[in-house]
Amino acid sequence: MKTIGLLGGMSWESTQTYYKLVNEGVRDRLGGLHSAQLVLYSVDFEPIERLQNADRWDDAATILADAARSIEAAGADFLVLCTNTMHKVAPSIEAAISIPLLHIADATADAITAAGLSRVGLLGTRFTMTEEFYRGRLTGQHGIEVLVPDESEREVIDRVIFDELCMGKILDESRERYRDIMHALAARGAQAIVLGCTEISMLVAPEDAPVPLFDTTRIHAERAVEAALGG
Ligand code: GLU
Repeated sequence: MKTIGLLGGMSWESTQTYYKLVNEGVRDRLGGLHSAQLVLYSVDFEPIERLQNADRWDDAATILADAARSIEAAGADFLVLCTNTMHKVAPSIEAAISIPLLHIADATADAITAAGLSRVGLLGTRFTMTEEFYRGRLTGQHGIEVLVPDESEREVIDRVIFDELCMGKILDESRERYRDIMHALAARGAQAIVLGCTEISMLVAPEDAPVPLFDTTRIHAERAVEAALGG
């Protein structure tokens, strides 16, 4: 079994989900007492979030590249960056290490394509929903049409992620807002909804949307298990 490198803490709420999912995935594949062989480096999220807000992505990249180097030095065979948003600095992280990074948007796009779908609604942070590194990658590299909520809806989605989900708060009224927004995306033609933020599956479940959900946390964790076990 290969050693999985998890770069987490963004937020730790979703990193614990990754930890559980990769262990369950290895147990389900190998049985018995098998569990994932992994290295976890979990950062302090507050300074990272401040750098996002200050548009100081290069400084955030430096912190994550250092962490990624430590993960490689600790013996990981590949890297899993446990957040969609920080894939904005994936190129800088990749340049700092010699092990591969399993890109969350590529894993998600492969799952969408394998399901025979090509038009999705995307929920995530304001960065993920609008910027080239994510939305653009789904379209440019994978040919997937991406619909995003309108501006006021994007503000709601983003606020709930940072003010609630990343702090472990799960509120019914926020689930209602997300539900309405997912229904609106489906009405605009989305064949599925991408939960493009690793905390959103803490809030919504398949029954909250009229179309299938693609949970990036689960898809990314499954990709990690495949990479660890092969096949
Ligand atoms: N975990 C979130 C994501 O998947 C948001 C936190 C962050 O900004 O990294 O994008």
